[in-house]
Amino acid sequence: MSDEATEDDASVIVIGGGPAGLSTALLTAKNGLETTVFDTDETWMHKAHLFNYLGIGSVGGSEFMATARQQVDDFGADRRQSEEVTAVSEAGDGFAVETEDGEYEADFVVLATGANRDIADDLGVAFAEDGTVDVGIEMETSLAGVYATGAMVRAEEWQAAIAVGDGAAAALNILSSVRGEHYHDFDVPADAERVFGDHLSE
Ligand SMILES: Cc1cc2nc3c(=O)[nH]c(=O)nc-3n(C[C@H](O)[C@H](O)[C@H](O)COP(=O)(O)OP(=O)(O)OC[C@H]3O[C@@H](n4cnc5c(N)ncnc54)[C@H](O)[C@@H]3O)c2cc1C
Repeated sequence: MSDEATEDDASVIVIGGGPAGLSTALLTAKNGLETTVFDTDETWMHKAHLFNYLGIGSVGGSEFMATARQQVDDFGADRRQSEEVTAVSEAGDGFAVETEDGEYEADFVVLATGANRDIADDLGVAFAEDGTVDVGIEMETSLAGVYATGAMVRAEEWQAAIAVGDGAAAALNILSSVRGEHYHDFDVPADAERVFGDHLSE
């Protein structure tokens, strides 16, 4: 990551807009980081129906994605749907991301391309013996500033709840890195009252 990145100007590019990538984007955008998401809409969620996502009784995968996308958009992320990332490289203190439509730069890159690990491979990050991208609980790869989340970091434990957790962990670690201290994204009932006001049920 850029040594100069501060909470006022740090930027994050998320590659992949499934549950993992959107979870990262939600938290980084909500907390003021410039956040761009590129996604080609081939998320497995379009094939799924969730009965096993804690706190949700039953929801179609595409319906889940529609809500997640709206939530991320509402927090101010720049979600570039249908724009495929073709290459990522180190550039100065950060990263350059090429798509079919242009070139972008960011202090942090979060890989969230599902089970497709091609970009991670091209970047040269370390892989584990089982062929997954090697990360710790911070979700940071062997290349500082590049995170990997979701299906690419697990051999078979592919669940939406796990992907969302991975994405959130990456975001909080990025926020902690930018702020220079451990960061929590905690809201309390008064925050809901302030944001949603009259829309809250009694
Ligand atoms: C049939 C089926 C049923 C399932 N049922 C359940 C279930 O009941 N409960 C459950 O918890 N999980 C279920 N899953 C698993 C769940 O869908 C996955 O765990 C989850 O989608 C993984 O999230 P992810 O964000 O890691 O990857 P994905 O959801 O696969 O998202 C990756 C995204 O990255 C995009 N992408 C890839 N490369 C690029 C690129 N170069 N540029 C831009 N975008 C790119 C893709 O288009 C995609 O949208 C099911 C999966 C399948 C296939």
